[in-house]
Amino acid sequence: MLASTTKVLAAKNTASLVTLQTIAYQEQNTITHSAPNNMLDSKVELEVRPSIFTLIDKMKNNDNVSHEMLSQIESELPPLNAAEYYLLNYLSAYISYHNGEIQKAINWANKAISYEEQMLQSQLATPLFFDIYLALAKYHSELGQYKRAYDAKRSYMNRYSDSLMNMKDSRIKALDEKYGTAIKQNENLLLESQNELKRLKIKEAENEKYIQLRNLVILSLVGLLFLALILRQVHVSNRLRVIAKTDALTGLFNRRSLFKKGNLLVNEAVKEGNTVSAILLDIDFFKSVNDNYGHDVGDKVIKMVAEVGTETIRSRDYYARLGGEEFAAILPGASLEESKAFAERLREKVEQLDLSTINIERKITVSIGVANLAQVTPSFDILLHAADEAMYNAKEQGRNRVCCYQPSETTAST
Ligand code: GH3
Ligand code: MG
Ligand code: MG
Repeated sequence: MLASTTKVLAAKNTASLVTLQTIAYQEQNTITHSAPNNMLDSKVELEVRPSIFTLIDKMKNNDNVSHEMLSQIESELPPLNAAEYYLLNYLSAYISYHNGEIQKAINWANKAISYEEQMLQSQLATPLFFDIYLALAKYHSELGQYKRAYDAKRSYMNRYSDSLMNMKDSRIKALDEKYGTAIKQNENLLLESQNELKRLKIKEAENEKYIQLRNLVILSLVGLLFLALILRQVHVSNRLRVIAKTDALTGLFNRRSLFKKGNLLVNEAVKEGNTVSAILLDIDFFKSVNDNYGHDVGDKVIKMVAEVGTETIRSRDYYARLGGEEFAAILPGASLEESKAFAERLREKVEQLDLSTINIERKITVSIGVANLAQVTPSFDILLHAADEAMYNAKEQGRNRVCCYQPSETTAST
């Protein structure tokens, strides 16, 4: 074997590979088409040059393949690797078989097989590298070596089966990769859709929140506006109610509210058996105030008399301007005497008013009539009429005085 390797190397150096092939043939069953030892460390699948594939195709088509063709390939650069030596030996076996040299063919085939240990299992599991066992089985069979033929055939079947398994595994792997990728892509799409959906939901929730907030603001504004309108309405109606029962010049109750309140108080007094008095006040010679000092000054005098009355009455009394320069008061629970005393105080206060602030030198006086419910038919109209009658009596008696109503129609001054 060493001798043979040396010969191979020598042949490479001299580039006389045909000679090498010749030597190999001469050694018949000894080794030819030998690979260098460094190929034993090969960890990768070995590449086979196209020219060898061409010869393999010829062999499979039962075309003519010669040792010269093999020598030609062996002379090519780069040097052959183990896989290529494998196939050259296989081709040599084919040539020998077709030359009727079956034993030689077996030797070439075994030589080819010996290169298996320098090759990877994955490369050997391809038909290119295990078909030789089928050929070997045929050679042994033709020599009647059936046991060897059987072993070779079994090796072929095992490798064939392994090859199928490998093919199946790689197809499964490819399918796994293909569908795994597809599933991944679908999952990614699904995730993207879910994320988009989440984004949309968040946006929708934000919109919903914004709309709710906007509606709340609008509702609040409408509510506030409505409340403001109601408050304004209440204010206006209160104001109207006040205006309706108030005298514009003095701020006192007016004639209308005096009669309303008067009727109420008289009815209450009748019902509860209480008494009530009414007084009626008229400013004396008021026309001359207007005439001498002007209407505006007259208004101021009216206001001052109104204020004196407001200061003088009790909290439960009701004081009003009847109109013009006339005022009236209702005094619930007050007897005729008490009312007369009140009227007298009022008269005195008016008389004592300092009118210099409005440039009036003379005094202002009032005539007052007083009537009590006990003196009349229980009705406010009648009671006030009685007080009016008494007030006219006061005028008649010289003014600036208080007169009480006299039911006998004859009035008396006090
Ligand atoms: P008597 O003592 O008899 O009551 O005389 P008098 O002048 O007060 O009575 P008369 O009825 O003759 O005059 C009342 C005057 O009051 C007439 C009217 O011009 C005036 N008057 C009525 N209302 C107002 C008012 O609101 N403001 C002013 N300045 N004068 C008024
Ligand atoms: Mg009058
Ligand atoms: Mg008067």
